[in-house]
Amino acid sequence: MFWVLAYLGVVLAPLVFALIGGSQPHHDFVTNFSVALGFVGLAMMGLEFALVARFETVAAPFGEDALLQFHRQIGYVGLAFVLIHVAISAHWDELTFHRAIRAPALVWFGMAALLSLLALVATSIWRKRLRLSYEWWHHAHTVLAVVVVVTALVHIYFVDEYVSSLIKQVLWGLMTAAFVVLTVWVRVVKPWSMRQRPWRLERVGAERGQTTTLQLSPPAGAGFRFEPGQFAWFSFGRSPFALTKHPFSFSSSAEQSETEIAVKALGDFTSTVSELEPGIPVYVDGPHGVFSIDQSEGPGFGLIAGGVGIAGLISMVRTMADREDVRPVVLVYANRDWEGVAFREELDRLAPRMNLTVVHVLSDPPPEWTGEAGYVTSELLARCLPGNYRRFQFFICGPAPMMDAAESALLELGVAGERVHTERFDMA
Ligand SMILES: Cc1cc2nc3c(=O)[nH]c(=O)nc-3n(C[C@H](O)[C@H](O)[C@H](O)COP(=O)(O)OP(=O)(O)OC[C@H]3O[C@@H](n4cnc5c(N)ncnc54)[C@H](O)[C@@H]3O)c2cc1C
Repeated sequence: MFWVLAYLGVVLAPLVFALIGGSQPHHDFVTNFSVALGFVGLAMMGLEFALVARFETVAAPFGEDALLQFHRQIGYVGLAFVLIHVAISAHWDELTFHRAIRAPALVWFGMAALLSLLALVATSIWRKRLRLSYEWWHHAHTVLAVVVVVTALVHIYFVDEYVSSLIKQVLWGLMTAAFVVLTVWVRVVKPWSMRQRPWRLERVGAERGQTTTLQLSPPAGAGFRFEPGQFAWFSFGRSPFALTKHPFSFSSSAEQSETEIAVKALGDFTSTVSELEPGIPVYVDGPHGVFSIDQSEGPGFGLIAGGVGIAGLISMVRTMADREDVRPVVLVYANRDWEGVAFREELDRLAPRMNLTVVHVLSDPPPEWTGEAGYVTSELLARCLPGNYRRFQFFICGPAPMMDAAESALLELGVAGERVHTERFDMA
């Protein structure tokens, strides 16, 4: 509630700034409305940075994927506000090529902000269609976002009446300073502090299913702790100032001193992970996330994994084994074929040590397969969950279609929505 009110406060603050010193008597309602939309749209764009700045206190109540979803959706709302502002404010009837070139600076900066915003949204919606790699898109997204906010602020400074009095200049100055501080914090201060405390890559191990386990050691004396299911942002060997870092879930037990992640070769970067040399520095920003059995206690757990979605879930299983936690756990683990089932031998070893039932589901089973075949459905879950499953906490991680299917299946089976937790790997 606090963060929702804080968000609304910052978004609406520019309207208060505009009102200070009285409204402009020559402005009619439509003009004031258009100006208000422009202000609110700009505040929303500025706050987009805060939403993805990975502040643990802001992310904790919602989860980072929910914040990212909000970042994406509120971006469309902000764009709509800005477009209506432009549509109402522009003097369309007087628009000629000659006049457009001789337009005052405020129009030029306004147009620069609008065009950058349109480019930013278009490259985000159509990234895959435009064949932009994630890294390229991320770099362009960061640069365009800064251009949008800076040019929009300059646009306001040129509209004299909004910064005419000293108090308004101070208030707008503070808002601009907050934006600059946020950017410097995320891009300079945080990476600089990570550079002072590099981790070390200790071991690179091959697993089934094109998956690689990386064992990492934190800096001496760091006293690093995470909760099973949490993730961090990693940068290997490169400088911590690199714009793009990759998120991976911790796969090791939260009770062990060795920290591990399991990475599946799915793209440009993840396909090179198996070639990393032990000994290189690793920069780690984390732990993050609320997808954890430690945050959602229950009398038992249902874990539903698809492919590399097992990473955070095996951390939960390993941690419970180390804690000698005897609460029942049903792990439904979907893969394409039997040979590609990462950690299957270890799961066999862990099952007798704890109250763990592993249900393998193969979409392309071998001819002799007698286990579950096909996909995760409500019928399959009803078959393998115990009678009191509605009181369990459920954790789902895997490819998006499997997650959607598993989530709806659980709701269909009468599990309350607040007992179903998801971690989506496809953030973009
Ligand atoms: C919270 C979270 C936890 C994750 N945990 C694991 C894990 O334990 N093991 C694992 O193998 N994978 C995990 N992933 C997915 C992993 O981060 C991406 O597969 C990886 O970053 C892809 O990089 P790439 O360059 O190889 O792929 P690319 O070919 O560049 O991209 C493939 C897709 O991965 C996504 N992606 C790429 N780079 C990033 C990035 N820097 N940040 C966010 N998304 C990106 C994009 O949607 C992209 O379309 C996790 C993702 C998230 C969001």
